[in-house]
Amino acid sequence: MGIFHAMESDAFEQIVFCRDRSSGLQAIIAIHDTTLGPALGGVRMRPYESEDAAIEDAMRLARGMTYKNALAGLNLGGGKAVIIGDSAKDKSEALFRAFGRFVNSLGGRYITAEDVGTTENDMDLVFQETKFVTGISPAHGSSGNPAPATAFGVYQGMRAAAKFKFGVDHLSRMTVAVLGLGQVGWNLCRLLHEAGVKLIVSDIRQDAVDEAIVRFGAVPTEVDRIYGADCDIFSPCALGAVLHDDTIPLLKARIVAGAANNQLLAPEHGERLQNCGILYAPDYAVNSGGVIHIADELNGYNRDRAYAKIEGIYQTLTAIFEMAEQERMPTSVAADRLAEERIRRGGNLRQGFWSGGRHAGIGGV
Ligand code: NAD
Repeated sequence: MGIFHAMESDAFEQIVFCRDRSSGLQAIIAIHDTTLGPALGGVRMRPYESEDAAIEDAMRLARGMTYKNALAGLNLGGGKAVIIGDSAKDKSEALFRAFGRFVNSLGGRYITAEDVGTTENDMDLVFQETKFVTGISPAHGSSGNPAPATAFGVYQGMRAAAKFKFGVDHLSRMTVAVLGLGQVGWNLCRLLHEAGVKLIVSDIRQDAVDEAIVRFGAVPTEVDRIYGADCDIFSPCALGAVLHDDTIPLLKARIVAGAANNQLLAPEHGERLQNCGILYAPDYAVNSGGVIHIADELNGYNRDRAYAKIEGIYQTLTAIFEMAEQERMPTSVAADRLAEERIRRGGNLRQGFWSGGRHAGIGGV
């Protein structure tokens, strides 16, 4: 498929191909939609097997950011960048500074951040060339690691789901099975433990599991047995694509709410969960605490303001659940509808193309 055809079918605004001869940079910046504001999304570094694969990944991720930022109530559009290269051996100061100059040349239509294969240090190099970057080191005024904020948002989403499904939003005495004890999963376990939740945990890292047993009194289980764990809520916080035809029938949990991106293997698995009577908190809605936190840097970071905004994930999830129930649709579809509705409303208010020059605010349009 030609590039313009692909852009048209997914309503893309702009795709920028960046090449810098002296540093060897080859990057693609995909700007999906700037109706609500400048496009915010991280830059991923990977040795893509082909240029088509890199373009496809940038476009898929950029589109996802449009929906995520819209539903998070941010005045931001969706974009994403990819750098073609091996993050273990192809990084250099020249490469990231060249990338920063390309970001700068867009005048604020795209704001970058770290992602898989890039780090805070890399963003500090980008920051030497442009102010349109977040996730820089705290010394430069950043908000720091977003994982605790993401975990806090997932916790709020779980409370909303528990209220909708069980009629109570305090989670004490409930049992939550957490798959993945990384940066988000660990912070989530801490919050749940403090709230009096019983934890079942699993991770391929035995050291993390052992520590969760000691710190949180968690019950360990094998990775492939966690789906069938006797619990109220299942929380996928490791990899994506964990909800599919083989795992959904095993679930005893009545709620799925976790941080992992792209949890449904295919869109129809949202419907499968609905048919099984399992309330699914759509991944990009429940894990948006991190992007809300990062976006606050654009206003001069204020932790209290950022966390107050993240608390709003409770209301967002409630709106998704209510719409899904009223219109008899999977929650994953309701989330997309609400995001699209907000973009439409935002477009009507702004009457057109975002032209740069002003800071991206947060708050409802
Ligand atoms: P992380 O790399 O710190 O943690 C992932 C954990 O999952 C690790 O402990 C790892 O050992 C474990 N794991 C990996 N493969 C596994 C497997 N097959 N079975 C069991 N455990 C496995 O990542 P993170 O930052 O905690 O993010 C977790 C998920 O949440 C990812 O999907 C990420 O894309 C998503 N997410 C993260 C953030 C954030 O702020 N970090 C924001 C939004 C979404």
